[in-house]
Amino acid sequence: MSIEISPIGYINTPYKEKFAIPRQPGLVTAARGQIHFYQAFNSVDFIRGIEQFSHLWLIFQFHQTANKSTSPLVRPPRLGGNAKVGVFASRSTHRPNNLGMSAVKLEKIISEDGQQSLLISGMDLLDNTPIIDIKPYIPYSDSIPLAEAGYGQTRPQDSLVVKFSQAANEQLIIHQPQYPQLTVLIEQILGQDPRPAYHKNKPSERLYGVTLYNLNIQWRVDGKTCVVEHINKVQNEGLVP
Ligand code: SAM
Repeated sequence: MSIEISPIGYINTPYKEKFAIPRQPGLVTAARGQIHFYQAFNSVDFIRGIEQFSHLWLIFQFHQTANKSTSPLVRPPRLGGNAKVGVFASRSTHRPNNLGMSAVKLEKIISEDGQQSLLISGMDLLDNTPIIDIKPYIPYSDSIPLAEAGYGQTRPQDSLVVKFSQAANEQLIIHQPQYPQLTVLIEQILGQDPRPAYHKNKPSERLYGVTLYNLNIQWRVDGKTCVVEHINKVQNEGLVP
């Protein structure tokens, strides 16, 4: 049996690549995203009353990994990347049907030139992720404070202190007018130490890079400190100082 599903829209987020996207929503609250509706769903009627809800569930497709094969067992990063659990005991992106779900904050409803969109924050979604459905978050039912969650019981703690080099500070001043949340966004993302588990606890001079919006962020890790070295604009696949 197969079921055909068509996305209702897509989301624009600062996250241009999978690396360094937080592993769950709510961890990087400074991240803002905008949900755009496809024509068939671009009517105020579809979102009438949505302003009553502070948070929404997004059901989406892990589109970038949708063509990868799935396996019954996965290795959750929370378990250090070695121990395996069943895919249905995980929130892995590699799963049958490639569906994800994230509770996010609704910041603003935008209606401009007949286009409806929703400004949200705190999402863990790649730029251009297809949105399958949106539902209001209902605290009395969706929040279960005494729920047990094994290896995912507690929020991961920020593990790095983020500092900016003089060059990065100067570049921040240039880019801040376009991206007012940029400093906090970088601090929240890198503070979680997005390096793969096997790079951690090993001293290394390695320069890491990630693209947020149209900016390439480069940083090094020294002990428990992350130093942002450069923030350069990406243009035509190349870097511009
Ligand atoms: N909160 C969702 C859930 O539980 O279903 C997603 C959890 S999943 C562990 C979050 C990760 O999915 C992110 O860190 C990012 O690496 C990846 N991701 C986000 N959007 C994606 C997309 N459109 N395609 C593939 N991977 C994506």
